[in-house]
Amino acid sequence: MHHFLGRLAPFAPYLVSFLTLGVVGLSAQQAPRYEAIIDVRQVTQDRLPVTVFVPKIDRDEVTWIFPATIPGTYESQRWWRFVSDFRAIGKDGKLLNVRRSTDSQFVISGARNLQAVTYLVDDSFDERDPDRDLFPPGGTSFEADSVFVFNHAGIIGYIEGIQKADFQVKVTRPKELYGASALGIARMNDTVDVYHVQSYDQLIDNPVMWSRPDTASFSVAGATVTVALIHPGKDSWAKAYAKDLERTTKAIGRFLPRMPVGRYAFLLYLWGGDTTTIHPRRQLYGALEHSYCSFYVMPATPTPRGLSDIASHEFLHILMPLNLHSEEIESFDFRSPKMSKHLWLYEGVTEYFAHLALLRDSAISEEDFFREFQGKIHGSASIPEKFSLTTFSKNVLTPENQELYGNIYTYGALNALFLDVVLRESSKGQTGLLELIYDLMLSYGPSKPFKDDELFDEIEKRTNSAVRAYLDTHVEGDRRLPMADMFAKIGMSFRQIDTIKAWTYGFTAKFGAQGMELFPEGHNGFDIVEGDKLRKIDGVSIMIAKEDAWRKLMDPKKAESITITVDRQGQEVELKTTARYTDKQVRNSLRPDPQASAEAMALRHAVLRGTRSH
Ligand SMILES: [Zn+2]
Repeated sequence: MHHFLGRLAPFAPYLVSFLTLGVVGLSAQQAPRYEAIIDVRQVTQDRLPVTVFVPKIDRDEVTWIFPATIPGTYESQRWWRFVSDFRAIGKDGKLLNVRRSTDSQFVISGARNLQAVTYLVDDSFDERDPDRDLFPPGGTSFEADSVFVFNHAGIIGYIEGIQKADFQVKVTRPKELYGASALGIARMNDTVDVYHVQSYDQLIDNPVMWSRPDTASFSVAGATVTVALIHPGKDSWAKAYAKDLERTTKAIGRFLPRMPVGRYAFLLYLWGGDTTTIHPRRQLYGALEHSYCSFYVMPATPTPRGLSDIASHEFLHILMPLNLHSEEIESFDFRSPKMSKHLWLYEGVTEYFAHLALLRDSAISEEDFFREFQGKIHGSASIPEKFSLTTFSKNVLTPENQELYGNIYTYGALNALFLDVVLRESSKGQTGLLELIYDLMLSYGPSKPFKDDELFDEIEKRTNSAVRAYLDTHVEGDRRLPMADMFAKIGMSFRQIDTIKAWTYGFTAKFGAQGMELFPEGHNGFDIVEGDKLRKIDGVSIMIAKEDAWRKLMDPKKAESITITVDRQGQEVELKTTARYTDKQVRNSLRPDPQASAEAMALRHAVLRGTRSH
């Protein structure tokens, strides 16, 4: 390990940058200010040296915090694990005493004299240790000379109690790299970028990525949208991605009564690395939302694949949490995070709107929409018999709830659909969930949080007692969602087990810790042995198999042949069969009810189309 300090007189570099930046003598009237100095050209063995000058401190002892987690990931990240060689430097250039707190944070003594801290950070992205496996879109990546991804939780910390302060970050980089972010980045010269935020929360809310430039932009309903890509290609891919994202965001622009942001950035890290070197348990791809941008880690393909579903969800987070959130989110406790009770709102409602927006814009059909929600019923199978969405939210960081986390996008989205049904039903079709959210947004906003415990009162004030009763029973209360009753209200027939005629290879699949396990069913064309683990579809690893291949396997439409490779007790076995048209038992069947009443059809129309039908 080579720390750049090792080659220089111990603390001279701090004094030099301090003077050249002209920040000596901050007066007491000025807002507290941190100043981070980073030279990404100094990265050695994936370790990046960071120096942060600190605001004036009037306490003898302070704690330097690296986040336990960041908003939106809902996973325990413990960023201090990526930090080494932490030093606190006094105004006289001497080292101050540093010890670790019981929760591993850095406690600095003699803090009145503290001038700066320095440390090395490892990147999280190509981390091989499954115990340090972080959600990639919230992670950091350093590839010398070519790629730097800063999710700042992994780069910069702060002094406990001084979270609402200015942060100025100065990054020196190779000439040919371009920094992309929702923040305005000042390019001081051809190697120095400077950016600036007003709080640590804002720093965390604004990832920055540097790479060879490939960007495009367009505008949607008055908002300027930037698309920036990191990818291994030699040509430009940004235009193709921007075209796809423009279609998605324009659909949302038409869905929303008004666009609540004036600018937005899609930041995409299209990773071209070797997926087989990654621990099989880790999630490779995904996206993380922020107020004015979202960050994606996706496979490196010159044109986007499956981006629109994810992007519409992430983009819709401009409603929640940006414009509607509780105090817990407004000023996040990065040391011992206090979660809001209302993940059902931030994630469940957002996921529901993402599909509703595509439906209303005719980007998907009603059949597609209900197939998606049928999938979400399948996806909610792990929900315990008694389940309160608010209790789950509040305690989302516990290991048990981390296991259940995916349900917020399935069960949580179903809950949002049903809440919309109750809202429309109890207002004679007039007011739906989107209208309620916009009504709440009038009272709250980006810097005006609601109180977690008062949200249901606020909703009841704007709606009626039927809505309150639903929230009390199925959101706060632990009663399972009444699937059949709710779908019946909108003329849909739901059955837990149903028999239909369909093309099938004769198997069922279940996702578990081991990956996708297969089970024989019906004619069992593949001769599957219970517990076979799926590895390849038509010779292609499932880690990189395309949507078409998955669709062919899970939902054949004709007598087509297919080959799969399974892991059978450690041995790879190739199995081949042809789909047959037979009776097929389906779980969670969801179909339009041909006998539905006119009233139910009118309510379905009101929910899905947003208007009353006459
Ligand atoms: Zn989300």
